[in-house]
Amino acid sequence: MAPFTTLIARLQPGGSWSWVRRAYRVARLGGITVAIYGAGKTAGHIEVLADPDGMRRQLVHSFVERSFDPGERRTMTPAVHDEWSALHRRVSSVGARIVVAAREHVAAQRSELRRRIAQLAREAQLASDAPPSSQAARAAEDADEARAQDAYWAAAERRLSGQWQWVVTNSQAVNAFVTPYCPRCVFVLEGLLTQLQPTDDELAMVIAHELAHQLHDHGSRTLQHGVEGALLQLLVLSLLDPTGLLELAVSATMQLGSYVSRRQFDRECEAEADATGLDIVTRACFDPVAAARMMSKFVELDPDRSSAWLRSHPLAATRLKRLLSQSGRIEADARAREHCAHEQLDLRAALRALYERSAPPTVAPSAPRGS
Ligand SMILES: [Zn+2]
Repeated sequence: MAPFTTLIARLQPGGSWSWVRRAYRVARLGGITVAIYGAGKTAGHIEVLADPDGMRRQLVHSFVERSFDPGERRTMTPAVHDEWSALHRRVSSVGARIVVAAREHVAAQRSELRRRIAQLAREAQLASDAPPSSQAARAAEDADEARAQDAYWAAAERRLSGQWQWVVTNSQAVNAFVTPYCPRCVFVLEGLLTQLQPTDDELAMVIAHELAHQLHDHGSRTLQHGVEGALLQLLVLSLLDPTGLLELAVSATMQLGSYVSRRQFDRECEAEADATGLDIVTRACFDPVAAARMMSKFVELDPDRSSAWLRSHPLAATRLKRLLSQSGRIEADARAREHCAHEQLDLRAALRALYERSAPPTVAPSAPRGS
């Protein structure tokens, strides 16, 4: 009996083996989390396989409802413009050009990467024939990196393939969004079309920006980011013995850290969606200068920055800065597309003017968020 009581004493908090209790708690929490996640995923698969079209209709319907804020829902019924309506036809015709250009953009990235992989393989072969072989090792490393990038763009290609759906809701909010829950769906709210009165070039930029979010898989990566943050919190809290205030303080600090890191990640996603969006718009023969100016049109229409799109897409200097750094390349690409008649553009000057006029964001983003 004595060894057993010694063992129990060692496992108690403060005992020399108390780490075993903590390790067991972490393992048990991990096991429960994986089991819940697995069960949820299987249930989702079963539901989708039973009625794929019905599931998609339900998803679209729930996001149409979510595009209305509660105040708006009290005065009007959420609905979708049918595909023969003028608003829907306009969005789908601009959108169709954007989808083709986005696929071309991805194909161009992949073809450039494949050319680079072949060149690096030749370099590695030549270097291995003539020692020292550190050059060969470097070329092999670069080729591995290029292959990883190609896998990224291959996944983007899969996300873009298939039929795209354009959903124009009758909400009067100025917003457009995509969601990882409904792949290849772009939601455009009537308010964006009627209040902003975008030209085709401007509408193209909004759609290309949203499509770029799906191309780069920002929605799923944001979800994953949130899950990782929650798991980390679970892990830390399971390691600590609950001691009231300490647990509260750790939990609050971790939530704050997770919020700050999420905001940083969102800003990076927005800048990436702008840059890819502008590439796609240019490739589709829309005017990139007019497309870039679209961002300031949101601010001019809504100086209080109260529209849903502006709340989730503040015209931050960092977004314009990134576009500015790429303006030379985008201009050169545009000029190379002779059939588009892009010769007269001065994208850099237009972006610089926007950059000088842009004020730092003053309103914190809040739900419902466009993405
Ligand atoms: Zn966005």
